[in-house]
Amino acid sequence: AELPGDPNASNTLRQVSGALYSFVDPTPTGTRPYLVAGSPAVAQLLGLDPRELRRPEFADVLSGNALLPNGAQPFAQTYGGHQFGSWAGQLGDGRAINLGAARGPDGQLWELQLKGAGMTPYSRRADGRAVMRSSLREFVASEAMHHLGVPTTRALALVGTGAEVVRDMFYNGNVRMEPGAVVCRVARSFVRFGSFQLPASRGGGDMPLVRLLADHVIRHHFPHLLGREDCYAAWLGEVAQRTGRLVAAWQAVGFCHGVLNTDNMSILGDTIDYGPYGLLERFDPSFTPNASDLGGLRYTFRNQPEICNWNVAQLANALLAAELMPLDAAEEAVGRYSEALTEAYQARMAAKLGLRAYDKGTAVSVLTAMHADGADFTNTFRALAAVDAEADAPGSIPPALQQALGPLEAEQAAEWGATLDAYRLRLQDEGMPTAERRALQDSANPAYIPRNALMQDAIAAAEAGSFDELHELMAVLERPYTLQPGAERFTHTERKVRMGVELLS
Ligand code: AMP
Ligand code: MG
Ligand code: MG
Repeated sequence: AELPGDPNASNTLRQVSGALYSFVDPTPTGTRPYLVAGSPAVAQLLGLDPRELRRPEFADVLSGNALLPNGAQPFAQTYGGHQFGSWAGQLGDGRAINLGAARGPDGQLWELQLKGAGMTPYSRRADGRAVMRSSLREFVASEAMHHLGVPTTRALALVGTGAEVVRDMFYNGNVRMEPGAVVCRVARSFVRFGSFQLPASRGGGDMPLVRLLADHVIRHHFPHLLGREDCYAAWLGEVAQRTGRLVAAWQAVGFCHGVLNTDNMSILGDTIDYGPYGLLERFDPSFTPNASDLGGLRYTFRNQPEICNWNVAQLANALLAAELMPLDAAEEAVGRYSEALTEAYQARMAAKLGLRAYDKGTAVSVLTAMHADGADFTNTFRALAAVDAEADAPGSIPPALQQALGPLEAEQAAEWGATLDAYRLRLQDEGMPTAERRALQDSANPAYIPRNALMQDAIAAAEAGSFDELHELMAVLERPYTLQPGAERFTHTERKVRMGVELLS
């Protein structure tokens, strides 16, 4: 309540200055919405009985057809951002509407947001709606990433609106109709780097607003820093650190965000905004799921660490403009990004390789072999635990790894044999008991990830009115590090880079 909201009651598209949000109600769909899937884990976070989600009234609330009878005032946040490296000016929740916050049984406040519930003052030229295809992808990824151990916004439910949404796929110029849907996203905060950049960029700079938002975020999410003389710099350092750890987690599970603009960077270091994202199948550092990242120059898998460093620097610039800290303190704070990233990445890679201490030579040789053969990143890492440093014959490839790699030419098999011989030597040097090493690797190398083909199948089924495929996929992705009987088909790899499916969503 202490943050300035938009005094303008008419919610037309416009520039909104001197405010951080606008009150705006969801637009009713005029249809009968239906629950496609819910997340029992998120329901429990909020203190809801998961069975409640199946009540018809819930589909109405979660599609924006009805408001909760608690007097809450829904709102859309405004923010700015650098998109593809250029300043884009005012953006904002163009199709996301915040319902308010719910306190979970553990006392934690969770914000609930409907994505696709209608237009806001920030919708620009778009319709404020979302389609089943992109909403299902966001729903699956939010929960899958959480279970993979990656910080992320969550999703309570996926609801079909029963309305058709017009989508113009620009590559063939045809207007398409797609079934509409709404995801209910859940996070401790939806504040982004761009939330600070926008007021800092306003003619001359609305610096009191930058400070007010910083104070709000610190009070609610970094209270241990309150009262410190260098409070703002310490906070920026923690944001940088969390962001570094986040990117390390992405690189370790092969997640490529695809749209790492500063408006898609959470102030809490959560993964936010699942658009054209993709997880690596074949290991290729230049993979990008974003079909509009022309030439794949910016948002490739390998560029994520550097791009996020740049994004953290843009946040620092906004805070510096508001004179929240001296330049040298900001520089030091930004430096914590790389430190945290390196430390977390090395720890995760060491565990994936079954090593106590990170060894760059081993990591590079395994990744190089994977890249050369177009090996599946997830399946190959998972199968590395099958290597037995003591019992394997020299030059051999254990059967589980053979299976993950698929058919190999004699020369490829010889190269893998040599790579594995070096790896076996390294493991012998470390001397970790094999059972302990395998447990470490199995806790760091998931067996199941949200693969594009699996989601495509679930999308096609959902569009045809059948949600079993999605439910089955969600159940497997709830325990990605545990082998599940009968779940082999969820490990099937395409062995080809597949482009993302979201162009306009
Ligand atoms: P993104 O690239 O997904 O981060 O989106 C950039 C901006 O466009 C955000 O401010 C979104 O809210 C807005 N946006 C994307 N799709 C829509 C839509 N269908 N309707 C309204 N706004 C949208
Ligand atoms: Mg966004
Ligand atoms: Mg988006």
